[in-house]
Amino acid sequence: MMQFHVDIGPQYEGERVRKEDMYVEFGGPKVEYKAELVQMKDPSEIEDEKVFVVGPDIKDLEEEGSYPLFIEIFVAGAGLEKDMEPVIERRLHDFCNYIEGVYHMNQQDEIWIRLSKDAYKKGFVSFKEFGQILIFEYKNDIPLIEQMQITFYTDPDKVKEKVEFARQIYEERRARARGLKEEDVEEFYGCVLCQSFAPTHCCVITPERIANCGAINWFDGRAASKMDPEGPIFPVPKGKCLGKIRGEYEGVNQVVYERSMGGTERVWIHSALEYPHTSCGCFQALCFYIPETDAFGIVHRDYKGMTPLGMAFSTMAGEASGGRQVEGMCGMSLEYLYSRKFMQYDGGIKRVVWMPKEIKERYKDAIPEDLYDKIATEEITTDPNELAEWLQAQGHPWITGEAQEELEKLREQDEAE
Ligand code: SF4
Repeated sequence: MMQFHVDIGPQYEGERVRKEDMYVEFGGPKVEYKAELVQMKDPSEIEDEKVFVVGPDIKDLEEEGSYPLFIEIFVAGAGLEKDMEPVIERRLHDFCNYIEGVYHMNQQDEIWIRLSKDAYKKGFVSFKEFGQILIFEYKNDIPLIEQMQITFYTDPDKVKEKVEFARQIYEERRARARGLKEEDVEEFYGCVLCQSFAPTHCCVITPERIANCGAINWFDGRAASKMDPEGPIFPVPKGKCLGKIRGEYEGVNQVVYERSMGGTERVWIHSALEYPHTSCGCFQALCFYIPETDAFGIVHRDYKGMTPLGMAFSTMAGEASGGRQVEGMCGMSLEYLYSRKFMQYDGGIKRVVWMPKEIKERYKDAIPEDLYDKIATEEITTDPNELAEWLQAQGHPWITGEAQEELEKLREQDEAE
């Protein structure tokens, strides 16, 4: 085995680097531009096992600072397929966390990486070593990867340029999965990659519900289980459908029960209120129940303000995470807003009454035109009683009862089938 200044192994996976133990951090809420991206290349475009650093290296940075970072990985291998890129990229989460003193959270352009003071003192002071460890882990674990090159960008202008490029790639990946329906496939996929932090969590990835982290869609799940049959992403045979609207399947219940070590017995894939999907810690957003309106709010990770629940995202995330089923607070990806099955058992998008302005504008296409102006943002109010009054005045379809009637009909149809 190669010699490194820090130890490597799954035993470090659950290790968190707290603020007081942190030497430096990359990305996270204080940093606007950060991301990670894996791309397949022709072998001739790769300098195998080379690690490049563009911008200041770890040892050049001021202690306790927060910095931009873009991790660019190029891979090549005869058995690799383009579909495998997002999956190889997602493995950065566990491979980084296997390194003593490295703490990796989230994914894509939401990453948050901390390095500990202890690791720095031991001599882990350069991205060159960080990259060499990652290449070692990847090649060891995924034999299909024959060549790999990594570049760490810390130069702020370069990071911005690279992140903007990466966002186009993420969008292309998500758009590809939008046409497929749950009824068209025999298998879903499960992922337990986040069990290091949420021991009973198991994501169920269907064509109409991308994983909570937003990083793995149905195609990615298929590619991952093919690439690494013994790995953390695996096929889930749907089995008998027990409820189409709520998204309950015999096969899903069975696999989730086994993989959650008996922690979860039933999952209604498209409900936030009854047997909701479990939440790990990597979810991009939360769908939460607001009692004063009997309706839902959506809040995403980057929103720092208050919600109508009187809590900020970070507090709510603490309540929802850990791999439990929390009725009325359900982790989700933002892409799920585009799904025609988005929380359909509860009333779907027509039951959403509040979301941060940024998300409302960014996901405008996912919201029916006649509903758009009836959804409040933090600019309207974060007070639940004021929100209820405002919705009444706007004639929000959930508040007027129109959407509730539609839901009753939909549920009747489900029972009839
Ligand atoms: S959020 Fe779900 S799909 Fe994403 S890495 Fe974690 S367990 Fe896997």
